[in-house]
Amino acid sequence: MGTRRSYGGLDHFRMIAAVLVIAIHTSPLASFGPEGDFFLTRVLARVAVPFFFMVTGQFVLSDVLARKRGSSRRLFRYLKKTALLYGIAICIYIPIGIYAGHYKEMTVGLLLKMLFFDGTFYHLWYFPACLLGVMLVYLMSRCMDKRGMTAAAGGLYVLGLLGDSYYGLTQSIPVLSAAYEAGFQIFSYTRNGIFFAPLFLILGAEVGGEQPVGNKKDTGERGVTGRGFDGLLLVFSFLAMTGEAFLLRYLDFQRHDSMYLALIPTMICLYRVLLSWDRKPAKVLRILGAWIYILHPAMIVVVRGGAKAVHMTELLVDNSLGHYLAVTILSVIAAFLVSLLVIRLSRVRFGCSRAWVELDMEALGQNADFLKSRLERECLLMPAVKANAYGHGAVLVAGELNRRGVRAFCVACAEEGADLRAHGIEGEILILGYTHPDEFDLLLRYGLTQTVVDVSYGELLDRYGKAAKRKIPVHIGVDTGMHRIGEAWENVEGIAGLFHREYLAVEGLFTHLCADDVLKEREREFTLGQARAFYELAGRLKGRGCFCPKLHLQSSYSVLNYPELAGDYARVGIALYGVLSTREDTEKWKNALQPVLSLKTRVAAVKNLHPGEAVGYGLQFTADKEMQIATLSIGYADGLPRDLSGGVGSVLIGGVRAPILGRMCMDQTIVDISRVPMVQTGDEAVLIGRSGGEEITAADLAEQAGTITNEILSRLGARLERTVVRGEVQ
Ligand SMILES: *Cc1c(COP(=O)(O)O)cnc(C)c1O
Repeated sequence: MGTRRSYGGLDHFRMIAAVLVIAIHTSPLASFGPEGDFFLTRVLARVAVPFFFMVTGQFVLSDVLARKRGSSRRLFRYLKKTALLYGIAICIYIPIGIYAGHYKEMTVGLLLKMLFFDGTFYHLWYFPACLLGVMLVYLMSRCMDKRGMTAAAGGLYVLGLLGDSYYGLTQSIPVLSAAYEAGFQIFSYTRNGIFFAPLFLILGAEVGGEQPVGNKKDTGERGVTGRGFDGLLLVFSFLAMTGEAFLLRYLDFQRHDSMYLALIPTMICLYRVLLSWDRKPAKVLRILGAWIYILHPAMIVVVRGGAKAVHMTELLVDNSLGHYLAVTILSVIAAFLVSLLVIRLSRVRFGCSRAWVELDMEALGQNADFLKSRLERECLLMPAVKANAYGHGAVLVAGELNRRGVRAFCVACAEEGADLRAHGIEGEILILGYTHPDEFDLLLRYGLTQTVVDVSYGELLDRYGKAAKRKIPVHIGVDTGMHRIGEAWENVEGIAGLFHREYLAVEGLFTHLCADDVLKEREREFTLGQARAFYELAGRLKGRGCFCPKLHLQSSYSVLNYPELAGDYARVGIALYGVLSTREDTEKWKNALQPVLSLKTRVAAVKNLHPGEAVGYGLQFTADKEMQIATLSIGYADGLPRDLSGGVGSVLIGGVRAPILGRMCMDQTIVDISRVPMVQTGDEAVLIGRSGGEEITAADLAEQAGTITNEILSRLGARLERTVVRGEVQ
């Protein structure tokens, strides 16, 4: 690749172009004389639309013209998106069009003319022009080389000129005149998708594909001179265009005034200058620009209506500049609001993540509802959001559950609890593990509940509470056979003593079942024995006057396998995230539980591999045939098990499986895409989740790596960005 262009200049000029288009439709200088108005709206502002065509050409067509793989797919995606936008715009303007009497004498012919050439509302012609132009250029590219295409598009442009600002010439030749009259039955103007758009689309693809003159790596003399030269040429060609326009106007040649000869060099130079304009890329401006374009005519109606209502017609309508400013300001505000909405709805992602986790919050909600439905009414969920919510993102998950009414969580350590609190998570937060006495202050500062890991630890906590003159909220951990943490259940005396400590507020008593996932005889008996011991202890404590508000012993597997064990809380973890530890169990419950997490990355590079060439560290894989490979920007530092190396694991690209080749690297992974059609840099690759009809589950990865899903998920790295989607993840 070598050099890279930043497209920030183009993004920023979109705003200028949008404001110029508003000028075309409002004539800001009309109150000050016709020459000024003509210059601003019929000359200067005429660069706006060709600019938009060129941007489209660069981003949609340059790969098509270079016959790159995957380019047609991108092109069709673009056509679909633009058609959708056109559809939305049509709907927005139908009421205004009806009000203005646009569709009074509608015939099928007129309707087609509107839809394909003129636009159903006057400024909407841009959309069909774009669609037609792109399709035409695509067809041209199938049967011509670049030169041929440029020549053909140039020819069409000249034909367009003769129906536009050079119409005077046409009229002096009777045959031509008759031909154009016939043409104008089909389209009202020649500035459309056939005569106007193709040339600028192709120019955009070509100029955009040129090597930059003033790139960052090479800001030497040549770059600066190149830019200066383009600037100078721009001034000259624009002056020529101005002269041309005024001359044609003077000669009264113009039927319409969108197309000039000098517009071509002007646009080429302008585009070059913009490409070397060093600004940060801003996707927001792209979306905003499009909506200003779509909404501004509606704002003209709003300003006219509003001005009448507040009796300010003189300033806001009759004064052309006041009118223009009012429409522009209102359009920007309206576009801003709509953009915000669109960004939310379409989950447009800002930034350029190399690898990320997508969370399906609908699935999370459904899983929570399902687990809750298996429990007694009084038993509440106390989701385990430890280890960053099993890799999902603890703040996002707990925040969503908070919104759904969940008021208790458990975490592994004080830091995790403090982090949730710092991010506004409400309700009880229980630390399931050991907290060092040096960190006891975190408990009070963040309102966390500590597990008493044994009686002597309880005494330590009590002493701290005494020094701080505050009661420490605790749940007492009870060991009923796992032998991990918790006071032995037989030590009723010792546990009862904790209830009488002045600075401990005992709010709960819990144990952990360690064989509830296996339904064989021995494990069943053991689990039921644990439960019996726990409830026996609770009963004896009660007998001694130790009142214990919350009892809990269930986690995911026991909610599924032993729902009758009940309790006041169920500490659900893995099942809440829609998977179970093994593939077998996940399969068994797959109708009830939906995976919440997808893990995705991007293709960083696509390469060909010739027979005999090796891949990655240690030359672990050598090609024995022609292959195509892709490098993905994710590695074991992101939490992928390195055991997936060497074809053990695979990823999904465009719904097709691509096996991992050679050794996985820390930040990158190489996959075989020989069987995947049309892969491009920037494409998405799915490591966990669905793509097309295929799916890779966390359980698949766990099986391939010889572990359980809990480990796969909870190890997903901090470096991954976490984003939220709703409903089915695609
Ligand atoms: C992690 C954990 C849970 C949650 O377990 P899952 O099997 O993921 O539901 C419950 N209780 C304790 C004590 C835990 O450590």
